[in-house]
Amino acid sequence: MGLGSTRRTVLVTGAAGFIGSHLVDRLLAEGFEVVGLDNLMTGDLGNLEDAKRDSRFHLEIGDVRETLHAYAEIIFNLACPASPVHYQSDPHATLTSSVLGAMRLVEHARSRRCRIIHASTSEVYGDPLVHPQKEDYFGNVNPIGERACYDEGKRVAETMLMDARRLHGVDARIVRIFNTYGPRMAFGDGRVVSNFLVQALENKPITIYGDGQQTRSFCYVSDLVEGLVAVARVESFDSPMNLGNPGEYTMLQLAETAMKVAGRSVELVRRPLPADDPRRRCPDITKAKAAINFTPKVPLEKGMALTCENFRSRLALRAHA
Ligand code: UDP
Repeated sequence: MGLGSTRRTVLVTGAAGFIGSHLVDRLLAEGFEVVGLDNLMTGDLGNLEDAKRDSRFHLEIGDVRETLHAYAEIIFNLACPASPVHYQSDPHATLTSSVLGAMRLVEHARSRRCRIIHASTSEVYGDPLVHPQKEDYFGNVNPIGERACYDEGKRVAETMLMDARRLHGVDARIVRIFNTYGPRMAFGDGRVVSNFLVQALENKPITIYGDGQQTRSFCYVSDLVEGLVAVARVESFDSPMNLGNPGEYTMLQLAETAMKVAGRSVELVRRPLPADDPRRRCPDITKAKAAINFTPKVPLEKGMALTCENFRSRLALRAHA
């Protein structure tokens, strides 16, 4: 990472999660010593099967809300439930993971001078009134709604990290991650990509919430991980930064793609739109392009096909378990 030979240990919080585990694999491939922290609230140790075979990987089962003991020069903070189904199942844990997690990281970084790459989210923009979303947009968030535990928790974490930057010179790098998908997504996370693929593969109706005209922008996980690593590498960083793929699709278009890659044609059924479900979402990644040369490469259909293959083999394993 161009950080010199003494700066070789990286801590990944939320290491057993979907994005966390891909990041761990990538960091190990680059030769880092990696400590992975996870409380397994939504993480899955199965995601770390490859990493666990590497002697440079050290797993700690623990909680980011408690004092950090591991020493690392670089910390990626990905510890928080991130899908609506998961984060709404325990709103208190969601909110405190963001807020207390950021607090612990700031305490740690102040005494140890480490670099923090903090995973924030496009949800800080809420149901945006500006399109596409640029980093200087303040957002449109319902502070008392069902998504607030996640959205407001992530907003407060950003506040805390920005104050630590201004007041104490903490090298806190905030990235706002837009919808990301790929192999290892949890089947039960209720996310649109996992729901649609499982439904298509199991020959069940695809559930379209609302009219299906709402949009999202989907970034394949390897592109996102590339961006995260690049953020850690650059010498100076101007927080916050959007990371995502600006290709924008309606949920009806995504359903078509899911059926195509699964090789199945299934019925579409309508379900009510969840509360505060954003109507449109698409990142403006001008800043990431300029600062870290961020250019997502994997087109939606290819990424969906790769994800579908992973789902197909995991579903087959589950059927034989
Ligand atoms: N969605 C859907 N069917 C599903 C799951 C989700 O139509 O089975 C919609 C959901 O209402 C939202 C979009 O897909 O508009 C993305 O939902 P997801 O939970 O994946 O992430 P979000 O971006 O809302 O956090």
